[in-house]
Amino acid sequence: MLRPPFIETPIEFLKGVGPAKAELLRAELGIFTFGDLLHHFPFRHVDRTKVWPIKELDDNLPYIQVKGVLSELKKEGKKGQERLSAKLSDSTGYIELVWFKVPGWLMDSLKPGGQYIAFGKPSLFRNIITLSHPELTTTENEVAETGLQPVYHTTEKMKARGLDSRGLTKHLRMLLANPELKLDENLPPNSISRNKLMNRHEAFRNIHFPQKIEALQQATDRLKFEELFFMQLKIVQLKNRNSRAATGVSFEKIGPQFNHFYETQLPFTLTEAQKRVLKEIRTNMRGGKHMNRLLQGDVGSGKTVVALMSMLMAVDNGYQACLMAPTEVLAQQHFKSISKMLEGMDVKVDLLTGSVTQKERRPILEALADGSLHILIGTHALIEDVVQFQNLGLVVIDEQHRFGVQQRYKLWTKNTQPPHILVMTATPIPRTLAMTLYGDLEVSVIDELPAGRIPIKTLHRYDRGMMVLFDFVKEQVRQGRQAYFVYPLIEESEKLDLQNLAEGFELVQHHFPEGEFKLVMVHGRLKPKEKEQAMQSFASNQSQVMVATTVIEVGVDVPNATVMVIMSAERFGLSQLHQLRGRVGRGGEQSYCILVTGDKMGNESRKRIKTMTETTDGFKIAETDLQLRGPGDIEGTRQSGLLNLKLANLALDGQWIELTRNEALQLLEIDPSLQKPENFATANFFEKYRTQKGDWGRVS
Ligand code: ADP
Ligand code: MG
Repeated sequence: MLRPPFIETPIEFLKGVGPAKAELLRAELGIFTFGDLLHHFPFRHVDRTKVWPIKELDDNLPYIQVKGVLSELKKEGKKGQERLSAKLSDSTGYIELVWFKVPGWLMDSLKPGGQYIAFGKPSLFRNIITLSHPELTTTENEVAETGLQPVYHTTEKMKARGLDSRGLTKHLRMLLANPELKLDENLPPNSISRNKLMNRHEAFRNIHFPQKIEALQQATDRLKFEELFFMQLKIVQLKNRNSRAATGVSFEKIGPQFNHFYETQLPFTLTEAQKRVLKEIRTNMRGGKHMNRLLQGDVGSGKTVVALMSMLMAVDNGYQACLMAPTEVLAQQHFKSISKMLEGMDVKVDLLTGSVTQKERRPILEALADGSLHILIGTHALIEDVVQFQNLGLVVIDEQHRFGVQQRYKLWTKNTQPPHILVMTATPIPRTLAMTLYGDLEVSVIDELPAGRIPIKTLHRYDRGMMVLFDFVKEQVRQGRQAYFVYPLIEESEKLDLQNLAEGFELVQHHFPEGEFKLVMVHGRLKPKEKEQAMQSFASNQSQVMVATTVIEVGVDVPNATVMVIMSAERFGLSQLHQLRGRVGRGGEQSYCILVTGDKMGNESRKRIKTMTETTDGFKIAETDLQLRGPGDIEGTRQSGLLNLKLANLALDGQWIELTRNEALQLLEIDPSLQKPENFATANFFEKYRTQKGDWGRVS
C-alpha cells in the first residue's frame, strides 16, 4: 500500500499526542493531520531574546522577562481567596510577583533564595512594578526559553488536557524537528525570485519559531503570499474559462421594443453612466459569450431602468427574461414601476411571489412555458422547480447580497444554455473585496446620480433632543413631504423589537395626531397583504408618516419622502444606514437623514455615525465598513471561503491581493494550463487546493 505523504499523517501519530489529545485537536481546532498542525499559526510571539534589568521596567511594556532571586514568599487572605506574593530582585532593583487563586502546588514548588526567570506583563501596583501570574522558570531551563516564543490559540477544554499554548509549542517543535518533514516549494520560481520570497520549509519553521523579528516577518509574508496567490489563481482561471466559453446565447439585434421604449416611453434622459453600462451589457450579450456581470450602482443611481432595457434586448431577440428581488415588497414595486414604464407596449410582464395563490399561478406558469410571457418579476419563488421558462435568456438579480450562491446557481440551470446573468448591487464593494469575491465577474459601475438631485443632509441627534426633532419633521410634513421613522430589528430579539416598534409608533403618533396626519406601521410580521396596503398608502401619499423596521431598507421608492429618521442608529451597521438613507433624496426637494442615538456609544458606533455625517459616497462607506467589521461580516463572504484565510486580512491587505492577482495573471498568461516543468509543483498543489475547497467562485 502506498504510504500517504508524511504531512498527511493523522495527528495522533505525532509523538506525545495519542488518541485522546488527537480527538481534542480535531474537535476543538479542526486539526486532523501533521499539515493541519503546521497551519495552526501562532497569533503572536513574545520576545524572550532579552532579559530586562528591573530598573528599566515600566508599565507600558508588553510581555518581558527578568531574571533575579526570589524572596519574601507569602500567602495572604481567606481560604479560597488566597493571594500569593513574592519579591524578585536583581542588581538594579526588585519587582513584585502575585498570583490570585493560587494553585496548591505552586507555593511548595517555589524556593526562596533561588534564581528564577519571570515572564509576564508589567503593571503598576501601589507604585511597585508587578507581574501578575508570571511564568516562572528556574534558570536551569533557560536554554529552552530564549528567542521569540509563539503564542497559540487554544480552548479551555484543551488547556485542561495540557494542550495550552506551551503544549502546542512542544508538539510543533517535535514536528518541525522531524527529519522526515519536507515542505516542498509550491510557488512558481518566477514569483519567488521576483518577490524575494522565503522558501516554503523555512517559512513554516520561522512562522512558528523565528530567531529574529525579521525572519518572522519574511515567513509571514511568504505564507500570506501563498494563501492569496492560490486563491487568485483559482479566480483568474475561472474568469479565463468563462470568457473563453462561447456557449452564451447571442442577442444579435437591437429590436423594436428596445427602440420604442428608448424613443417614446423613457420618462427621463439616461445619465452618461447608465448609457455606458448599457453599452457594456449589450456588447457582452451579443458576442456569443456568456455574460456574468456585476452591476454596481449606489442607491438611487437608476439600476432598475438599466435592468429593464437589458431585458428588452432579450425580448427583442426572442428570449424571455426574469428579474429576481430579495423581498416581496421590492418585487411588487419593481413589477409596478416596470409595468408602468412599459404601458401600451406589446411586452407581457407578470409577478410571481410566495403570496401568489396556486390558482393565480397556473396561467402565469403556462404563459411562461409557452413563451407568451416575456418578463417575469418575482422573489425566491422564481427558483422553484415548477417554474419553467420556454426560453430564458437573461436573469437579473437585484440586491444580490441577499441571495446565496446556491440560489443563484439554480437559476443558471433553468435553460439548456445558461442564461446571461446580471447581478445588481447597491452595496458598493471595496475594490479589494470585489476582486476576490467577484473576481470571475465582469463589473459595470454606475458612478453618477441622475441630474437635479440635491445632496441629502445627514445629521446626528441624541434621544434627548427628540422634541425638537419631532417639530422639525412635522414642519416638513406640513409642507407636503413624507417621513420615515425606522426602528432597529434584530432577529434574536424580534419580540422585544416589535415592542420597541409599537412603543415608537405610539410616540410618533402622539406627535402627529390623527386628524391632521395619517400614519402607517410596517414590519416583517405583517401579512403580505397588510404590508402591501401600508406601502401603497404611503406611496400614494394617503399617509405621510411611515414607522417601520428595516423591511424598507431595500429598494422602496417614494420620491416625495424627504425625511429619514433612524432611531437607535448606533445599532445599525454602516451599509444598512447607507441603504436606509438612500430611501430619501429621490425627488427634487432637499432631503434629510437624521441619526438618533443615545448618549452612550461605543467607539465603533461613533465612527459609523461620523462616517455617515461626513460622506454620502457609497464606496467610501463600504471601505470604512470593511475596516470596522472585517470581511467576515460582509454579506457574501461567508459562502465564499474568504473566511478561511488565516494570515491575510482582506480589509488591510489590498496591496497583497493586487500583487498576487498580478502574479496569477502573469503565470496563466505564460503557462495557461501549467504544463511547463518549472511550474509542476505549483500545478500539483493547485490541483489539490481547487478540489479541497468548495467551488464558490463559479456563481458568485
Ligand atoms: P436604484 O439604483 O437604487 O435601484 P432606481 O432604479 O430605483 O435606483 O432609481 C431611482 C429613481 O431614479 C427612480 O425613481 C427612477 O425612476 C429615477 N431615475 C432613474 N434613472 C434616472 C435618470 N436618468 N434621470 C432621472 N431619474 C432617473
Ligand atoms: Mg433598486
